[in-house]
Amino acid sequence: MKVLKFGGTSVGSAKSIKEVAKIVANIEGRKIVVLSAMSQTTNVLHKITDFIATSKFVEAENTIDELCAKYKDVITELYSSDAYRKQASAFIEERFDFIKSYAHEGSVAVIEGIEKIIVAQGEILSTNMFAMYLEEIKQNASLLSAFDFMRIDEAGEPDSAFITESLGAITEANPQTDIFVTQGYICLNHVGDIDNLKRGGSDYSASLIGAGIVAEEIQIWTDIDGMHNNDPRYVDNTFSLKEISFDEAAELAYFGAKILHPQSVIPAKEKNVPVLLKDTFNPESPGTIIKNCEVPNRVRAIAAKDGITAIKIKSYRMLMAYGFLKNIFEVFEKYKTSIDMVTTSEVAVSLTIDDASHLAEITKELEDIGSVEVDDNLSIICLAGDFSSKQKGASAAIFNSLTNIPIRMISYGGSNYNVSLVVSTDDKIPALRALNEGVFDNVVS
Ligand code: ASP
Ligand code: MG
Repeated sequence: MKVLKFGGTSVGSAKSIKEVAKIVANIEGRKIVVLSAMSQTTNVLHKITDFIATSKFVEAENTIDELCAKYKDVITELYSSDAYRKQASAFIEERFDFIKSYAHEGSVAVIEGIEKIIVAQGEILSTNMFAMYLEEIKQNASLLSAFDFMRIDEAGEPDSAFITESLGAITEANPQTDIFVTQGYICLNHVGDIDNLKRGGSDYSASLIGAGIVAEEIQIWTDIDGMHNNDPRYVDNTFSLKEISFDEAAELAYFGAKILHPQSVIPAKEKNVPVLLKDTFNPESPGTIIKNCEVPNRVRAIAAKDGITAIKIKSYRMLMAYGFLKNIFEVFEKYKTSIDMVTTSEVAVSLTIDDASHLAEITKELEDIGSVEVDDNLSIICLAGDFSSKQKGASAAIFNSLTNIPIRMISYGGSNYNVSLVVSTDDKIPALRALNEGVFDNVVS
C-alpha cells in the first residue's frame, strides 16, 4: 500500500483537484490519499477564530461567507453533474453554518478549543469534496476520518501504537476499497477533543500513516519537483536531488527547505519507508526520493532559515566551572524555547533560537548568569552532506566560498550530515550564491 499526500496548492482549485484525481488513478495498487486544506483556507479559518476571539462577529460572519462563496465556485467547476454539485453544495453549506454557529459571545471564553474545531474544517472540506469527485468519476474510493486513527497523547506526541492498530483494523475491514481518502493535519487528543499536528502538519500525518501501515512508499506531492540542492528562490540553476538520506532530509527540512515538514521524516525513517517528493504540476519529473542511501563525500544541498536570534552569554566564572551550560539551558527550558545551534568558547556560549516570543524574560534571567548580547535578523545556512571525521576538504570549500561574508557562528561536528553557519539575513542571498559556486563545482545530481 502507498500513502499519497497532496498539499494545499495541489488541491487549491477545481483544475488542480482534477489533476490530483488523475495522478491518484494512475498509481497502481491500494493507497491512502492524505489531503491538506485548499491553499489559504487554514489561514482564513485562523482569521475567523481571531475575529471571534475579539468579539468581531460581523467580520467573522463576512469572512465565513466569503470563504464559502469560494468553495461554491470550486464546486461549480469541479463536478460535471448537478446531482454531485447539489450534494457537495449541501455539505459545504452545512460546514459553513457549523462554523458560523460559533460566531457569538459565548464562544469567546472557550476560544482555544473552538479554534481547533474551526481550523479542522479545512481538511474536512477538501477531503469530502475530493471523495465525492472520485465517486463521480467512478473510482473505488472511500472517505476515512482522521479522527478514527490519528491521536496524540497528553504530551502532544502522536500515539503510534494506536495509529498502527486502528489503521490496520480499518484497512483489513475494508479489503474492497482501493483508495482511502483522509485528512492530514487533524487528529484527536488524549481526551478525545479535536486537535491538530500544528501548521504544515499534513506531511507529518502522511508519514505517521505510512509508518503505521509500513507502506511501500510515502509520496508527498507539492508544487515543486523535489528537494533542490539550493534555494531556487535566490539561486539560479538549482536542480532537484535524485536521492537524499533521511538524516540529510531531516536537517534540510528543519533548517529551511520549505518543501517538507521537519518532523515528517522521523516516522518514515523509523520504519524505513521511502519518502518520494513529487510535483503535482509536473508529474513526469522524477522528484526526490528520501531513503536509506549513501551520503556523498561532499556538500549535497544547502538550505537557509530566517528569523534567527543569537544570544551570547559570557561569564569569567565559567572558566573551568561546571554547571554553567546547565544553568543556561534551564532558562530556555523554563520558557519552552528550543535552541537550534550552540557554539562555545571557554568563557562564553552563543546559541540561537527561532522563537523570540520570550526573549525579554530569557535575557533578564540570563543576566544573572553572565553578560548577555542579543543579535537578531540572522539566518542559519545549513549544508547537508557527509561531514564525518573521515572526510577532508569539505570545510575548506565552504570557507573559501565565504571569504567576503561575515560569519556569526559555525557549527561543525554536531551531526555527521550537517554543517550550519549563522550570517546576517542581509548576507544570506550572497552567501547562498557564493556557496553555490564554491561547493557544487562540477557536481551533477
Ligand atoms: N492545512 C494545514 C496548514 O495549512 C496543514 C497542512 O497544510 O499541512 O497548516
Ligand atoms: Mg505543507
